[in-house]
Amino acid sequence: MNAEIIAVGTEILLGNIVNTNAQYLSEKLSELGINVYYQSVVGDNPDRLKSCLKQAMERADLLLITGGLGPTQDDLTKETAAELMGFSLEMHEPSLERMRAYFQAVNRPMTPNNKKQAMMPKGATVLKNDCGTAPGCMMERDGKIMILLPGPPIEMKTMYEGYVRPLLLQKSDSVISSRTMRLFGIGESRAESLIADLIRESENPSIAPYAKLCEVHLRLTAKAETEEKAEQMLDETEGKVSELLGQYCYGYDEDTLQTVAVHTLMEQGKTLAVAESCTGGMIAKMITEVSGSSRVFTHGFVTYANEAKEQMLGVKHSALERFGAVSETVAMQMCRGAKEKSGADFALSVTGIAGPGGGTDKKPVGLVYIGLATSNGVRCKKLLLSGSRDKIRTQTAMNALAMLLEELK
Ligand code: ATP
Ligand code: MG
Repeated sequence: MNAEIIAVGTEILLGNIVNTNAQYLSEKLSELGINVYYQSVVGDNPDRLKSCLKQAMERADLLLITGGLGPTQDDLTKETAAELMGFSLEMHEPSLERMRAYFQAVNRPMTPNNKKQAMMPKGATVLKNDCGTAPGCMMERDGKIMILLPGPPIEMKTMYEGYVRPLLLQKSDSVISSRTMRLFGIGESRAESLIADLIRESENPSIAPYAKLCEVHLRLTAKAETEEKAEQMLDETEGKVSELLGQYCYGYDEDTLQTVAVHTLMEQGKTLAVAESCTGGMIAKMITEVSGSSRVFTHGFVTYANEAKEQMLGVKHSALERFGAVSETVAMQMCRGAKEKSGADFALSVTGIAGPGGGTDKKPVGLVYIGLATSNGVRCKKLLLSGSRDKIRTQTAMNALAMLLEELK
């Protein structure tokens, strides 16, 4: 099955908004193994919309159309699409009922033009809008499928996940399964070059790398007759990838460094404290985002000033004077102090220059030290990061968590 995504809206053509709907849908369809050969954008003009839809129907089996389902005059997607597919519009009572209830709940009057949104193509599958008023629909005729979705991204995504994806899965006679391997500590180009042959040889399962901040994600997608077969194929491909990149893989799918860190600490019955300077509490925030972290996270020291490092962590005044706050010695004293004060099994510390100001030749912006205290002693890692202040801080926090994970392994 091949698809075309059509975004309707003059705003997009004028550059007032970015067509994020097309990006989202393309990504989702590729997950299902549906090829997207074209993406189109057309304004709120009935003639041009009609010709755009006609052309798309000639070259695609599945059309996903977003925008223009609303109540106003310029919202004409449904009328135009239904006419082209040979469907007449009729009032869809359940949608009208839902809309009435919606307006009552938000305590707003329902204007007559809102009713237009409940007019649906007769014989179409109506798709509920769980985040707004305009329902979507799926029309099928002569082997062509046309799916209309609302323009507002949150409404569109919720409808896609809840109703469109299951319908598309039903249409397909095979099962698509995917698995994302999350790598840390290797850049995208290096990861890609190491598995270049594997990527080229692999059609099913396919391997697609994605670069994220500090991470590379590899999405493996398998198409098979059954779920079990697809999973088995993914296992095999993952095994091949792991031979080359296994050491960098810290988790799968929805895992993050912090969820894996917290869950591993839980499994091992260990606790953690952190002492942060340049990240100002970011690591503590990331850890406490994970539900259940109270069982493993004991203390977060935000010691920004030198005095705070001395008072709260027992960092030596002489060390601060001699080496400066951003130094290996201070990073090591910070985590040692945090471990002692907290009584935790592990303590992480970070100190660095996040910029954009404050750098010198000897200590440039992006210089960061990460310390880790364990029952076996104290270690330190020096990093030279680049980017904006925010990026340097985020990378620092992620590297600290990765250092802990290495230790927990
Ligand atoms: P409404 O009921 O809000 O009128 P609609 O289905 O008629 O919804 P549009 O009027 O086309 O959709 O767009 C509504 C809003 O949704 C736009 O102002 C824009 O913020 C967002 N939007 C529409 N299309 C896209 C798109 N392709 N990508 C991202 N955002 C979009
Ligand atoms: Mg609209």
